[in-house]
Amino acid sequence: MEKSCIECGVAVHGRSDKRFCSTHCRSTYNNKKNDRESQLMREINRTLRRNRRILASLNPKGKTKIKRSRLADLEYNFNYHTNTFTTKAGKIYFFCYDQGYLELDDGYLALVERQEYVQ
Ligand SMILES: [Zn+2]
Repeated sequence: MEKSCIECGVAVHGRSDKRFCSTHCRSTYNNKKNDRESQLMREINRTLRRNRRILASLNPKGKTKIKRSRLADLEYNFNYHTNTFTTKAGKIYFFCYDQGYLELDDGYLALVERQEYVQ
């Protein structure tokens, strides 16, 4: 079966597991892949830091209650968090680093700050 280089598309000869025609194509491909991965990670990290900053700005005393819509107004991204904490009662806190929230009834959130790293 004829195989082609996954970077430039030219025919590849030799071992059946060979994916590139040359070391140049291999490094070009891997560099692009690394760039995409770091780009993605940068975007996620930016979102997480931004979320944390929003939570911290609304919670200067380390504990408070706010309307969920205030986070939405500040374009908080609810899809991203660093970790969760589930209480014995089954309630789930969502954290961005040390800043977290818990959904309450009636469209409110309890904001909390966490002091320690939890395994
Ligand atoms: Zn190639």
